[in-house]
Amino acid sequence: MNKTFIGLGSNIEPRKQYLDQAIEKLNNQPHIHVTKMSSVYETPPVGYIDQRPFLNMVVELEVKLESLQLLAVCQQIETDLDRKRTFENGPRTIDLDILLFNDEYRDLDSLQLPHPRMVERAFVLVPLCEIAPNQIVPTTDKAIEELLLDLPKEDIQEIIRWEEPRHKA
Ligand code: ADP
Ligand code: MG
Repeated sequence: MNKTFIGLGSNIEPRKQYLDQAIEKLNNQPHIHVTKMSSVYETPPVGYIDQRPFLNMVVELEVKLESLQLLAVCQQIETDLDRKRTFENGPRTIDLDILLFNDEYRDLDSLQLPHPRMVERAFVLVPLCEIAPNQIVPTTDKAIEELLLDLPKEDIQEIIRWEEPRHKA
């Protein structure tokens, strides 16, 4: 059994439904169990900033797959949920990034592990810290809660816990 963490993001409505559907599709796979889920956070776009805010969250999975097989599953789910590849960091219905896979290190174009930008992204570390504060990131030898302390306070303050809007009765 392999333990892995996936970062999910969406900034095209219905954002929450895209997150829910992606998790359901992961859990419906025969060799994947969703074992932990973070809260949902609303976060400003990074990179290309002229676009809608994201909802982000992180899930922990136990999988009986190799990392490249898991990547293929994630990419199929992105396609099934209407993910269009427009431009780098552009708007997306759903993005599934493999953050960590056991303590595996990989440097392929198609799969880099640990995810190379995770340690500088508050929208990854805040939800990940909620479910795995003591998890070590192999390339840094630091725990998630330590890595979070290394980020600028302003970055962390922008990550707001999000709740489903209540519908009027
Ligand atoms: P991004 O998530 O950086 O906005 P994409 O989702 O469009 O961009 O992914 C671009 C490429 O990143 C994909 O072709 C995928 O093969 C590659 N990739 C490399 N490492 C990873 C990883 N750890 N998780 C997911 N995709 C990865
Ligand atoms: Mg991605």
